[in-house]
Amino acid sequence: MDPRVQQFMAMIKAKNPGENEFHQAVQEVTESLIPFIDENPKYRHAKILERIAEPERVILFRVPWLDDKGEIQINKGYRIEMNSAIGPYKGGLRFHPTVNLGILKFLAFEQVFKNSLTTLPMGGGKGGSDFDPKGKSDNEVMRFCQSFMCELFRHIGPDTDVPAGDIGVGGREVGYMFGMYKRLRNEFTGVLTGKGIEWGGSLIRPEATGYGATYFAAEMLATRGDSIKDKIVAISGSGNVAQFATEKVTEMGGKVVTLSDSDGTIYDPKGIDREKLNYVMELKNVKRGRMKDYAEKYGVEYFEGKRPWMVKCDIAMPNATQNEIDENDAKMLVKNGCVCVSEGANMPSTPEAVEVFLKAGILYGPGKAANAGGVATSGLEMTQNSMRLPWSREEVDSRLQTIMKNIHATCVKYGSKDNGFINYVDGANIGGFVKVANAMIAQGVV
Ligand code: NDP
Repeated sequence: MDPRVQQFMAMIKAKNPGENEFHQAVQEVTESLIPFIDENPKYRHAKILERIAEPERVILFRVPWLDDKGEIQINKGYRIEMNSAIGPYKGGLRFHPTVNLGILKFLAFEQVFKNSLTTLPMGGGKGGSDFDPKGKSDNEVMRFCQSFMCELFRHIGPDTDVPAGDIGVGGREVGYMFGMYKRLRNEFTGVLTGKGIEWGGSLIRPEATGYGATYFAAEMLATRGDSIKDKIVAISGSGNVAQFATEKVTEMGGKVVTLSDSDGTIYDPKGIDREKLNYVMELKNVKRGRMKDYAEKYGVEYFEGKRPWMVKCDIAMPNATQNEIDENDAKMLVKNGCVCVSEGANMPSTPEAVEVFLKAGILYGPGKAANAGGVATSGLEMTQNSMRLPWSREEVDSRLQTIMKNIHATCVKYGSKDNGFINYVDGANIGGFVKVANAMIAQGVV
């Protein structure tokens, strides 16, 4: 490791003990940025790296709520307001039992670069709770969301901080939180994105992350004169991102052969077509069931406790969670002929896995570029809310496609190496950094 990266990381680790995912995210960015900062010393003099790794504000709060038995439950609530140099804080809320400060700080840190890459005026933030919506009744989820918003409302606003969904936070949760925010503030504003279409939401927002990651894969493949058509695609997860990635890949002529959840993976070599995807959507979004049920219904293989990466595929789209591809998984993917990885999830590949992809010279699109379509469309939802004018499906989708093309072009600009290889990790990190860093310098020491 470059001794300067080592020194910087020693400082980060000492200041943020035990926050492993945050260390991992900062280290990856630092490795890309140190050589760039060498060539542009104004960023060193302004201590941008040190400042960008420190959240502007961290809010931690108690979320008490009553379960259906009348028992009091207590969860932790968080909002990390990471960076507002180029716009209001923007980033999702995650409700999952694994949520802790380190995970949310890594997500908020990534969000700063990702939001900058979209070219829209959005700063970076992230939040959530260790609340687990799984197995809870609608009423319990509602009471939790209301209690969560009873504290969060004083910290957010359409020009201050605009949360959205993430793992465990979909249309239902955004609805309950928006209802409580509106009641507390007596204002109807675009304070949350991912809203329902009847009350300020944008067409294509639910689809945007999965569609965007697929468009990004298509852009990467096009640099090698290739396309998604007839490709075998392994997808992990079966939530929002995985579902719409499956839809778009299939539309573009690819064949999705796996989906998963935290219990296991289904392998359907015939491909997950429209009818099967409709079943998955009903199963996951309405019945809140498990992928095992899919295997039983369609008589396909089910791998209990396994991730999809042992399956032969041309393209891998990790769309579940962080660190879900380790070094061995990455080696297996490359060995089985995978030529492209487009990350719908945030930081789904471990540093060792990324190393394997880069060494093998395959197309590797890191989450902060490949999954930026979600937040970009949230930005488009904010624009429509401010104009009080909704755009058509075609209008939003065409803007999303343009944004993904532009993000790809930025990665090519900052990530192209002398031998012609495009290192999308460097491209995304440096491309995302420049605008935020310049804004921070212009705004002085704040
Ligand atoms: P959902 O909650 O809709 O779905 C998450 C999926 O991942 C579920 O299938 C879930 O399985 C699985 N999963 C969650 N945690 C784990 C785990 N620890 N191990 C194995 N599987 C797990 O979330 P999204 O689809 O919205 O988010 C997926 C990823 O995409 C996350 O990394 C998120 O940060 C990222 N992302 C999402 C965006 C969005 O717009 N929604 C935008 C950009 C990135 P189970 O049902 O068993 O919990």
